[in-house]
Amino acid sequence: MGGMPEACHVAGGSESAVDRFDLPLTYDLSQVDPDSGVLVVTTYWRPRPQDPDPERPGEKLTMLSYLPTTAEQDCPCGSGQRFAQCCQALSYWHPLCPNPAMEGYSCVAPQTATFALLSAQARRELRAYLNADERLYCVEDAPNRAFWIHWGDPTVEAPEGMLCFGDIELRPNGALVVGALSERRMAALLDLLRPLDLGTPQLQRDPVSPVEKPPRKQAARRSHRSGGPGRPNRSQA
Ligand SMILES: [Zn+2]
Repeated sequence: MGGMPEACHVAGGSESAVDRFDLPLTYDLSQVDPDSGVLVVTTYWRPRPQDPDPERPGEKLTMLSYLPTTAEQDCPCGSGQRFAQCCQALSYWHPLCPNPAMEGYSCVAPQTATFALLSAQARRELRAYLNADERLYCVEDAPNRAFWIHWGDPTVEAPEGMLCFGDIELRPNGALVVGALSERRMAALLDLLRPLDLGTPQLQRDPVSPVEKPPRKQAARRSHRSGGPGRPNRSQA
């Protein structure tokens, strides 16, 4: 994976529920240039060697990395605008996360979709269906609870582990909860569940707290000629 030169481990894995963007920012953001890149949140799954079954549940690892971007490039957030007119112009970071199968990135927008309680029969069918789907990896399959991680197709493996693109959790009360970190990820998961005819889920979006960018360093490292919005290319000395 070429684009993540300064990856930094910021949070331990939790097999609790959904991916939430709630990273302790131990990464020193004052050291990265907000004019030359975006922040990317990536979640990995990896086995935990000390466990009786290292594969289950395994653990999640969330990393924050910096993706270098130039002003003229299409913004990595997928808006279709140039970086200079989009995320570069923001006064705060809006972190991105990779789309399934690494087809670009999307703005982080943590969300859950909760389906109406399933009957015992529907739960059995659901388990069989999801366990047979190669895009999913089942990390827990207990009598009253099950948990699948969306690895996508093709799966994407990195030195840190398998990339995760969302979760599906079957809770002890019979609720089915889908968790995803972006609209694109949620759409992929809902697509995957569609053949089961589970009805319309209740969607909930969690707020993303903006992360302040460090003060811009004047001119020194700016290489684009056109000058960003509101930033005239003055070279008076
Ligand atoms: Zn953007």
